[in-house]
Amino acid sequence: MVSRLRAVFLLLVLVPQAVIFQMTKSSPLAADKYFGQAAAIALAVSLLLVLALPGLTVEWLAGKRLMQLRQFCSQVRQGNYRQLLALPNESCDGDGEEELTVLMRDMNWMARQIEVRENDLQKAVSDLSQSRQHIGEQNKYLTAVNAELLATQQQLEQRTTELEEACRNMQVMAMTDPLTSIANRRCFFETMERNFAALMCNCRPISLLILDIDRFKMINDTYGHQAGDKVLLELAEIIQNNTREGDLAARIGGEEYALLLPDTSLQEAKVVAGRIRAIVQERVFVLDESHQAFVTVSIGVCTLAKLICVDRNKLYHYADQALYHSKHNGRNRISIYDPDTHSIGRAESA
Ligand code: GH3
Ligand code: MG
Ligand code: MG
Repeated sequence: MVSRLRAVFLLLVLVPQAVIFQMTKSSPLAADKYFGQAAAIALAVSLLLVLALPGLTVEWLAGKRLMQLRQFCSQVRQGNYRQLLALPNESCDGDGEEELTVLMRDMNWMARQIEVRENDLQKAVSDLSQSRQHIGEQNKYLTAVNAELLATQQQLEQRTTELEEACRNMQVMAMTDPLTSIANRRCFFETMERNFAALMCNCRPISLLILDIDRFKMINDTYGHQAGDKVLLELAEIIQNNTREGDLAARIGGEEYALLLPDTSLQEAKVVAGRIRAIVQERVFVLDESHQAFVTVSIGVCTLAKLICVDRNKLYHYADQALYHSKHNGRNRISIYDPDTHSIGRAESA
């Protein structure tokens, strides 16, 4: 650059001087004794200028570009890197370029790179924000679905509880006599089935009482079915009140009841039967506001003390035979079936 400027200056200063010198050479001015000295001084000054001015010019230009660079850096610091530096010669490939021009070109490149990176970054930020929004929406949707699931789960739990409750109720209903609320026939025979073998294996005696109201049809016929129901209900209470833990009182059907007494000897069974018979006989059954009735029961008893019989049906059959005996021998009494002799006799205390 400096050498190029020097050549330019040399041409600008020396060529006019040479022309002036040629033009004045033939003029009377050339005869002057100081003409040669003046020409030499002019030449010397010109040469000095040619030597000094390019350097100074370059320095001035460099200072200007440095200033441009500083302004550019300041703009970049403030985030404005779209305004690029104006290069002195954009078409130049840099080989012979001055250092500052190369630096400015690099700075422009860096600014463009920053712009590209910033665009990428903005796009990434925008994508991220969209993703975040999408995730937020998904989250909302999932929260709503979760709430629905929780509600459904609660409903299901409630429904399951209700169903379990209903199932329990149905099981109880299936095993309970609806009028008297004691065990029904089904419950009685299932319990017999379950417990009978075990009780017999323990070699403990087991007793069964079968009770039937005497001439119950007359109560119905005289006072009505509802009055009959009251008697059935009250008799169930009397039997139930005379059981211990482990005993099972059931309404087998109609006005017939059974009382299973595990681990109970014949003697003990007779006592229970005698007590129930006496209570019933003495009880005044209130049928309605103006009517009362006295009823009696016939009872059949059988006790298995040994492993002579493992069939529950036989125990029931023997007790039923004893009941039949009571009915046909005057009612309001207790008959005992002896499984050893297969004979039936009236209980002494009855
Ligand atoms: P016995 O002394 O020979 O046992 O005579 P009984 O009249 O008690 O026996 P019977 O079998 O002739 O009559 C039983 C009656 O019980 C007939 C029936 O209408 C009545 N009965 C059966 N179930 C019910 C019921 O749930 N409620 C009422 N009120 N009566 C019933
Ligand atoms: Mg009867
Ligand atoms: Mg009967």
